[in-house]
Amino acid sequence: MYAPPVQRLITELGKLPGIGQRTAQRLAFHILRSDTEDATALADAIREVKERIGLCQVCFNLADSERCRICTDERRDATLICVVEEPGDVIPIERTHEYRGRYHVLGGALSPIDGIDPEDLKSAELYARVADSDPRIEEVVLATNPTTTGEATALHIAAALRERAPEVAVTRLASGLPVGSDLAYADEVTLGKALSGRRAL
Ligand SMILES: [Zn+2]
Repeated sequence: MYAPPVQRLITELGKLPGIGQRTAQRLAFHILRSDTEDATALADAIREVKERIGLCQVCFNLADSERCRICTDERRDATLICVVEEPGDVIPIERTHEYRGRYHVLGGALSPIDGIDPEDLKSAELYARVADSDPRIEEVVLATNPTTTGEATALHIAAALRERAPEVAVTRLASGLPVGSDLAYADEVTLGKALSGRRAL
């Protein structure tokens, strides 16, 4: 229907989450109409992010070197780990200014229906981190999303930590977050309260 380069662009855009065929076409035509400079800037930004950004070797947050900025920041409390599903969940927690510890990004949540099992997440890396850490980890805050899969993930990790590291306090964000939604959509005040009011699991 379209010239092959146009069709290719539509196909690639259509692979993005939430972008259906019609939106992919609309975006493709927008790119075709835009200046060469703007279109090239978009292509370059995609290429640069793939070349320069990887995962932190310690916490699996996004990083432009072996360790992310939070893991290398000596002022952060190294005895406290906040466990989140995705790198995007770190930002809203940072925005609350309620949290001064470090993070551990799982890379998703348990969902047997979707074939996501514990070994698909960075949970073994979390247990190893808790076991080997110096200074000793005092608390692990489970800040997975208040969704069915997020809750299941929190319970699974809490049970595993109790077995492997019973001396470590395991806490969960206080209720009050909109159930079924993502952390990334919670406002700062609500998320800040959920963090300061966290409870033992
Ligand atoms: Zn890190």
